[in-house]
Amino acid sequence: MNYFSLNTPEHISSFKDAVIRGIAPDKGLYFPESITALDPSFFETIQNFSTEDLAFEAIHQFVGNEIPEEELRNILSEVLDFEFPVVELEKNIATLELFHGPTMAFKDVGARFMARCLGYFSKQSNTKENVTVLVATSGDTGGAVANGFLGVEGVDVVILYPKGKVSPIQEKQLTTLGQNIRALEVEGSFDDCQAFVKKAFLDKSITDHIKLTSANSINVARWLPQMLYYFLAYKQVKNKAEKLAFSVPSGNFGNICAGIVAFKLGLPVDHFIASTNINRVIPDYMDTQTYTPRASKPTISNAMDVGDPSNFIRIQKLFSNDYDQLAALFSSESFEDDQTKAAMLKLFIENEYIADPHGAVGYLGLESYLEYHPDTYGIFLETAHPVKFLEVVEETLHTKVAIPKQIQKVMSGQKKSVEIATYEQLKSYLLD
Ligand SMILES: *Cc1c(COP(=O)(O)O)cnc(C)c1O
Repeated sequence: MNYFSLNTPEHISSFKDAVIRGIAPDKGLYFPESITALDPSFFETIQNFSTEDLAFEAIHQFVGNEIPEEELRNILSEVLDFEFPVVELEKNIATLELFHGPTMAFKDVGARFMARCLGYFSKQSNTKENVTVLVATSGDTGGAVANGFLGVEGVDVVILYPKGKVSPIQEKQLTTLGQNIRALEVEGSFDDCQAFVKKAFLDKSITDHIKLTSANSINVARWLPQMLYYFLAYKQVKNKAEKLAFSVPSGNFGNICAGIVAFKLGLPVDHFIASTNINRVIPDYMDTQTYTPRASKPTISNAMDVGDPSNFIRIQKLFSNDYDQLAALFSSESFEDDQTKAAMLKLFIENEYIADPHGAVGYLGLESYLEYHPDTYGIFLETAHPVKFLEVVEETLHTKVAIPKQIQKVMSGQKKSVEIATYEQLKSYLLD
């Protein structure tokens, strides 16, 4: 499958090169040249498909023959080796739990898929040059990337995180693995980390010597496998849901964009709700049809504190840049932290369900949509385990959250990081 750059459609790349580059040379996002709907019989019989077979059916056209079928099936079965349960909370409200992976955030699937694709391409190439994944994180991305890439041959990973600004659990997930994973603790904010990374990608004095790639949802191998969540949810609720809506807690809009790709493949979905915190660039766009990026503001759902969501341009493209087509399937609503906390409390008291702040934002968006669409079955995505936002969850619910095994294990690891404060320090670190 070929991909073109959304900046210059004439710039075409194979899947392999799109994965290795991350972003097109003209700085455009890659977009698949075609999306061919699956046969309706697939959706009729979806309950007979194993997770691996389902995933293969959905994703193989996006890889084409660049990874052999058997290898792609192996990758998918490794990537999807945990549960994706739909848990019903009310008559027509359920949550799709995406946090049963190794780092307990939904980013595990995309990070692991990308790691294995890069690992495969690196094994195939006869140059012995490693690829370096350089990534800035405000929390969850770094942990998922570190875990997904651990031990992958031919790939080095350097993660930048803002000193003192990620949770203790998140810091352990970034800094304790060792091997091909290194962590840089940056004296500054997440925006500073992000700025360093962007500068490095454009810095020829670095890129002439090392092959850099990104591992955020700009990368097609991290973005596309997220479509599988929606198929796996549909498989579980097919008999219950005449009309189906998904509410997706959104920051960079990669997850919801992948859901819309699933829709384009024929998945019967009636509506997508992009639920956001007060970083409401997209809700405002849907109201005004004017896109105005802004500096992000901090919230309790901090993985969604994004002021210029990268993937929205892909969503627009999926609807041929036609606002009316987009608005027929997609809406977006924003919520304040107080509302999020109230929703967490309500879910806990009425449904005995502990949601993390991101999932709670998803719940709010869904509740608001269902008010006017009572005949619809709604699923909100629970994108992280509440333990990842332990402080705010325990404080809001006045309860203790049990620490799962995989988190206990990482908490006992030894932190290893290198502190940096300037871009020059990053550069000499990378070139050393
Ligand atoms: C990354 C993340 C999000 C936002 O996902 P996007 O694909 O960037 O919209 C939501 N919730 C959690 C917990 C996350 O880590």
